[in-house]
Amino acid sequence: MRLILLGPPGAGKGTQASSIAEKYQVEHISTGDIFRYHIKNNTELGKKVKEYTDNGKLVPDELTCEIVWERLDREDCQKGFLLDGFPRTLQQAEILEQGLKERGQALDSVISIEVPNEILLERLSGRRVCNSCGEPYHTKNKSPKVEGVCDTCGGEIVQRKDDLEATVRNRIQVYEEQTAPLIDYYKERDLLLSVDGTKAIEVVREEIFATLASFSSKDC
Ligand code: ADP
Ligand code: ADP
Ligand code: ZN
Repeated sequence: MRLILLGPPGAGKGTQASSIAEKYQVEHISTGDIFRYHIKNNTELGKKVKEYTDNGKLVPDELTCEIVWERLDREDCQKGFLLDGFPRTLQQAEILEQGLKERGQALDSVISIEVPNEILLERLSGRRVCNSCGEPYHTKNKSPKVEGVCDTCGGEIVQRKDDLEATVRNRIQVYEEQTAPLIDYYKERDLLLSVDGTKAIEVVREEIFATLASFSSKDC
């Protein structure tokens, strides 16, 4: 399966990603996690992207696509992938489509998680993430078993610098201007599956599984 998770910041993409990737046995690829890893380790790429991510601006398409292809061309992605946070612009979507075509591959579905802005603000201000594996938590909606410690990998749970209020508003605006047009782009290609992301985490997960199952059986 080749899948994309689409949705505004705070919609729940990262939260849903691990169970979808596990169920379909595909690699979960989060461009945000890749960038944060490089920033944390102060690599050359990290130095280039820090300025953008800190301010809630998009990393330029060319650089982002280069990182994504480097990842998608590895052996472990040949059986499929789940992209989380990519594509985020029409140009990224076109580059992805063209690149897959050249490799004789195509997307199976795009899952769009829909959540209104008021809820996004509340989710992002309470979001905490694992500093090692990126797993998201929330001060009210999702606590780890042991405070401050990631359930999945034992890493330290921290607040992202770009989850502070001024940057969050900027990121939601960037989403509306640059990423929201992708909803129509994938609708036109009959790939879009919309899910109501305002429900509880487990309910959203079941809805994603159900809609993916009915979409794949329709294909056969
Ligand atoms: P995204 O990856 O789309 O930016 P996250 O998965 O990081 O979003 O979720 C944003 C925040 O909202 C996290 O703190 C997460 O725990 C919380 N969250 C995610 N899904 C839900 C949900 N369905 N209900 C309540 N809180 C949620
Ligand atoms: P969120 O889960 O809150 O939507 P991400 O973790 O996906 O945020 O991304 C964090 C930041 O990394 C973005 O604000 C942006 O600066 C950068 N980034 C991630 N993915 C992309 C992308 N596809 N194109 C450009 N910039 C990106
Ligand atoms: Zn972790």
